[in-house]
Amino acid sequence: MSRVYNFSAGPSMLPEAVLSRAAAEMFDCGGSGQSVMEMSHRSPEYEKIIFGCEELLRKIMNIPSSYKILFMQGGASNQFSAVPLNLLSEEDTADYAITGSFAKKAYQEAKRFSNVSEIASSADKNFTYIPAITPSMLNPDAKYLHICYNNTIYGTCYQSVPETGCKDLVADMSSCILSTPVDVSRFGIIYAGAQKNMAPAGLTVAIIREDLIGHARSNTPIMLNYKTFADNDSMYNTPPCYPIYICKLVLEWLQNDIGGLENMESINRKKASLLYDYLDNSKLFIPIAEKPYRSIMNVTFRTGDDRLDKEFVEGSAAFGIVNIKGHRLAGGMRASIYNAMPYAGVETLIEYMSRFEAAHK
Ligand SMILES: *Cc1c(COP(=O)(O)O)cnc(C)c1O
Repeated sequence: MSRVYNFSAGPSMLPEAVLSRAAAEMFDCGGSGQSVMEMSHRSPEYEKIIFGCEELLRKIMNIPSSYKILFMQGGASNQFSAVPLNLLSEEDTADYAITGSFAKKAYQEAKRFSNVSEIASSADKNFTYIPAITPSMLNPDAKYLHICYNNTIYGTCYQSVPETGCKDLVADMSSCILSTPVDVSRFGIIYAGAQKNMAPAGLTVAIIREDLIGHARSNTPIMLNYKTFADNDSMYNTPPCYPIYICKLVLEWLQNDIGGLENMESINRKKASLLYDYLDNSKLFIPIAEKPYRSIMNVTFRTGDDRLDKEFVEGSAAFGIVNIKGHRLAGGMRASIYNAMPYAGVETLIEYMSRFEAAHK
């Protein structure tokens, strides 16, 4: 079996230990005589999976008991609508920081429902940095500040949680959740599409402080209302059963094989430093994101010559590297090095980059 190093921004690699376990349990999960894909979500076997997943996530992320964990669908994009519908009346306002394309989509979607404002933006430099945010920048009547914590396309990340005074902070953490510890109590809502660092596509996780649930405007679709999920243990209807099961296996891997989020962070920093150090010393490749705002999950770079970028992407397959092409909005290349990307994958990428560089002196 030959596996590639998949640098895709999502869906992305899963730990091999998780794939092996899923394969072993494919026909018979835990002596049930069935695959998880075939199980009733109301069965005691499945309840163990979904409640076990929730409990592990709470433990690993140290989520306070005053927060609900909701297993939803529709991707992070669905939360772009859910957040304003649940938190704002038509007269209410909220603030949005525009640090990339997903941040902008969230803002544009919220604008359809309420009069939200853009309070900061890094569009002036094609989103290569994170603008400073201070409480005085926020509108006095804003109900929350929405941020995109890690900007998947541009490779930037907040390096600390912005101060919002008394305002609730809502964060899209799709591409950085579980990559480092976070102080959940600093946030009103954290949400993430699972297909980057948690599970296969199909699951969306929302972590919500309880007092923010139950205020949705009356015409909110039932499947966008956080209360529907909170009141029914995320099983008002059929949940994404299999992605939740894989999420539980990923969390078990994080806890037992990695040893928790502190260890995960140090592994991730080691991988990212290896690549950034190479980029900083390269005479051919140029890192795209400004140094103080670099993401440790999505590393963006280019050569400055579109033709060479194309040649680099085309030659990568010979090294077992796939999906290294950058997003069309950022150009160049992007190496997404999520939790499941092995250190050896980054070493292989650097090996290829060094050879490419030597051949193009
Ligand atoms: C991938 C991504 C999204 C979009 O997620 P979907 O689950 O496909 O809707 C939104 N925000 C961020 C930060 C992402 O990385």
